Amino acid sequence: MAAVYTQPAAANYYSNPSQPSMKQRGYRICDQCGAVEQPSGSRFRLCGGCMTTQYCSQDCQKMHWASHKAICQHTSSAKSSVVGSGAVDEGLVKALRKFTSLHTTLLGWAGFQALQLKRMPSNVRQSALLVELSYRPSASDPNRRFSVKGTHIVPRSYVTDNDPLVADDIKRREDRCRRSGGIGTAVILIQCGEISQVMPVEVDAPNKISWDQRDDWADVLSHFVEAGRTDFAPISTTARGIVYG
Ligand SMILES: [Zn+2]
Ligand SMILES: [Zn+2]
Repeated sequence: MAAVYTQPAAANYYSNPSQPSMKQRGYRICDQCGAVEQPSGSRFRLCGGCMTTQYCSQDCQKMHWASHKAICQHTSSAKSSVVGSGAVDEGLVKALRKFTSLHTTLLGWAGFQALQLKRMPSNVRQSALLVELSYRPSASDPNRRFSVKGTHIVPRSYVTDNDPLVADDIKRREDRCRRSGGIGTAVILIQCGEISQVMPVEVDAPNKISWDQRDDWADVLSHFVEAGRTDFAPISTTARGIVYG
């Protein structure tokens, strides 16, 4: 698949990774009240247990705990209860959660591209993106401990069939997303050895999404992960012209 583009998929693709990078913003949804994080507003908080669920405020987080507790504890313990020959690498479990939270925008964008949701929104219910990582615990830069080993499109049932609690959580997000006009919840599975993390992304209706469709998403994903960059800003073409982010 040798696609030629007049511009790279990310506005800052060629900039120097060693420069202090801006943290990515936006597209975070409060799991309690449904508010969307705004670049100008205060930063949403991440649940420290599952590192997946986000809240606009401490109040919302407190209010949500009673209903969130089951999936939160399930998600965090599922990752540390792998039955194997030895103890689970807790460092890896934590590093993987941190990785997912640092690269939320990049992973969400890659899932959107991989499932071709702009062209085929119904894919959101059929397929999931599996990102396979390798781990280099000795890398001196904590943001460069992972690299992308491979990416695969898998049936979404691969995630939901084996795990009713996760399936319920995805369905709950999906229902909410569709009530507000979105197409549903894209599922991205991040896997490193025997440890995996499910990242659900609520996706807007295609006409609201201005991200350009790209075939080079896998290269872009690798590039940003490999360089330890968390400043990914996808190119979008809108009626106003080309914008970044
Ligand atoms: Zn809220
Ligand atoms: Zn949680």
